[in-house]
Amino acid sequence: MKDFEFHRPSSVKDAVALLRARSGAKLLAGGQSLLPVLKLELAEHSDVISLAGLGELRDIRRDGDKLLIGALVTHDGVHRSPEVQKAIPALAQLAGGIGDAQVRNRGTLGGSVAHADPAADYPAALLGLGATVITDRRSIAADDFFTGLFATALAADEVVTAVAFPIPKRAAYVKFAHRASKYALVGVMVAETAGGVRVAVTGAGAKVFRLTAFEKALQGKLSAAALDGLTVPATDLNSDAEASAEYRAHLIGVMARRAVQAL
Ligand SMILES: Cc1cc2nc3c(=O)[nH]c(=O)nc-3n(C[C@H](O)[C@H](O)[C@H](O)COP(=O)(O)OP(=O)(O)OC[C@H]3O[C@@H](n4cnc5c(N)ncnc54)[C@H](O)[C@@H]3O)c2cc1C
Repeated sequence: MKDFEFHRPSSVKDAVALLRARSGAKLLAGGQSLLPVLKLELAEHSDVISLAGLGELRDIRRDGDKLLIGALVTHDGVHRSPEVQKAIPALAQLAGGIGDAQVRNRGTLGGSVAHADPAADYPAALLGLGATVITDRRSIAADDFFTGLFATALAADEVVTAVAFPIPKRAAYVKFAHRASKYALVGVMVAETAGGVRVAVTGAGAKVFRLTAFEKALQGKLSAAALDGLTVPATDLNSDAEASAEYRAHLIGVMARRAVQAL
C-alpha cells in the first residue's frame, strides 16, 4: 500500500473542504471496497478522508412517507433497524444478505451507493424503490444517479449524506448470489410504489437497470403469471466465469418471478 495522508474531519463541510483542497483525496467510509483497492495498489490517493467522525450521518428516521437512512449506517445497522424492518422489510432483508458479518459490520449504505459496484445489492433497492440520494448540496433521483460501471452522478468533491427511500406498498428482493462473496450474480427488486410497479436488476449489466417490459406486464396485475412468456435478451449482459450472459438473462426471469411471489 502506498503512503497517504490521513484526515478525520468532524463535519461534512470540513470533509468537502478537504476534498476541494487535495485533488488526490478519497473519502473512506467502511473501507470494504476502498481498502482492497489501496492494498492491491489499483489506485493511489495522496489523502484519505475518514468519515468516521460524522455522527450526523448515522441516523435512521421516518419522514412522512419516506425513510431517511444516513450514509454511514452500516449494512448490519440497516438489517437490524426496527424502523427499516417495519417500513421496508425487503430493504432490511437485502442488507442482511450482503457479504458476511464482517462486511456488514463495516460497510455502509453511502459507501456502497457511491462505489456503484455493478454486482452490489443496494443499487437495486434504490432504483426499485425510486429512492433519492441526498448529498451535501443536492438531491439526485436514483434513476439519474447510477451512470455506468462504477460510475455515478457524484462530483469529485461531493459527499453522500443520506438516502431517502419512499415507503412502498410492498416490495421484495431476491438474488442469486456468488457462492463466496455473496455479491449478486443477478438480484431483482420488485416494488409496488405510489407511482406504479418498479422492477430493478443488479449484477447482470454494467450498471443497475429497470426492466420496463416486466414493469408494464405487472401494472395492475401483480402475479408471477403476468410474466408468462416474457424473456430477457442476453445482449449487453455480463458474461464471466460464474455465469454467461444467456444464463444471467434466464436468472433475471427466475429471480423476478420469485420476487413477485415473495411480495
Ligand atoms: C468480501 C466482501 C464481500 C462483499 N459482498 C457484498 C455483497 O454481497 N453485496 C454488496 O452489495 N456488497 C458487497 N461487498 C461490498 C460492501 O458492501 C462494501 O461495504 C461497499 O461496497 C462499500 O461500502 P464502504 O462503506 O465499505 O465504502 P468504502 O470502501 O469506504 O468506500 C467505497 C467508495 O465510496 C466512496 N464513499 C464512501 N462513502 C462515501 C460518501 N458518504 N459519499 C461519497 N463517497 C463515498 C469512497 O471514496 C470509495 O470510493 C462486499 C465486500 C467484501 C470485501
